[in-house]
Amino acid sequence: MATSDAARNFASLAVHAGQEPDAATGAVIPPVHFSTTYAQDGIGGLRGGYEYGRAANPTRTALQTQLAAIEGGAHALSFASGLAAEDSLLRAVLRPGDEVLLGNDVYGGTYRLISRVLGDWGVQLRIVDMSDLDAVRAAVAERAPRILWVETPSNPLLRITDIAGLAAIGHAAGAVVVVDNTFATPALQRPLSLGADVVVHSTTKYLGGHSDVVGGAVVLNDDALAEKIGFLQFAVGAVSGPLDAWLTTRGIKTLAVRMQRHSENGLAVASFLEGHERVAKVYYPGLASHPGHELAARQMSGFGGIVSLALESGEAARRFAESTRLFTLAESLGGVESLVNYPDAMTHASVRGTEAAVPVEVVRLSVGIEDEADLLADLEQALKD
Ligand SMILES: *Cc1c(COP(=O)(O)O)cnc(C)c1O
Repeated sequence: MATSDAARNFASLAVHAGQEPDAATGAVIPPVHFSTTYAQDGIGGLRGGYEYGRAANPTRTALQTQLAAIEGGAHALSFASGLAAEDSLLRAVLRPGDEVLLGNDVYGGTYRLISRVLGDWGVQLRIVDMSDLDAVRAAVAERAPRILWVETPSNPLLRITDIAGLAAIGHAAGAVVVVDNTFATPALQRPLSLGADVVVHSTTKYLGGHSDVVGGAVVLNDDALAEKIGFLQFAVGAVSGPLDAWLTTRGIKTLAVRMQRHSENGLAVASFLEGHERVAKVYYPGLASHPGHELAARQMSGFGGIVSLALESGEAARRFAESTRLFTLAESLGGVESLVNYPDAMTHASVRGTEAAVPVEVVRLSVGIEDEADLLADLEQALKD
């Protein structure tokens, strides 16, 4: 007897959920549906519930089924970008006057979306170090936020937050607890199983995995909130296009093996940098020296491929970021190829001078799946410059 879908484990779900062979032809890879409209058998007589491409598309449905399965959620909604997903979630939950309590080194675009877009609609923002639960408790006691929003590991300083502890604090205050799981991915960490209410993703990163498709997703269990977000997906229309949805699905199928290799290479790179005389500090939860190491080891099943380091000065950090050859100087992360990013002037330029600013000495690496020795040799030569 075949194993029931619900009993399957992560790597199997990533390959198979939402990916049944095409009923009409037996094609093992379900076709990409480009049609924007669907024939009706009499007015309102829809064959598969499909009527118009913004409302629903079978390729997007397949991706959403796959996303829900890999995060262990009842509902998943996919969007044109990570920020589009965040926007729909925030607008579904918040009303003017509501406040978001945000981690202090979240993705710069999340900070910008809440402070500069939703701020004009009366949404308030407060920043706290989410990895310090006493600080979170104090902030919540001062004023109850509507949303607690955390990235763990965080971007780019790889701080680790206790998701179960945060969820307990948030729920006692009636807040919705959101985890941006872009860095860890469900291959390494399942926030819903730890008590979070909503997981958000930039699928542009590890889920897509090949730096060739922009997308985002929201995964959750709450039926009523899922319906509200689904309404915004339809009524605002920041949906994934069919080819984008299909590329993301294809990427997710190899997520388990990619994250394993990213984690191996990440640890090798972090250990190498930690032993290097020119490196002032290494931020990687897989290192025993990382303050969140034990918590990460409990809450995650691997430490991932993002490694940040601090050099002796901003000048040295910029020079290092411009000296690698195998690591390409570029924004973004999570692809099979290794990238180097200088947050202060690149990904986090929008939070420069704010309380979410990144120290000028810090460089962030997205360690790819290339050969380990080649990666270390490249870092060695860049550190000599
Ligand atoms: C990239 C990123 C986002 C934004 O996603 P887009 O797909 O670029 O809109 C949000 N959160 C994290 C952690 C990211 O890395």
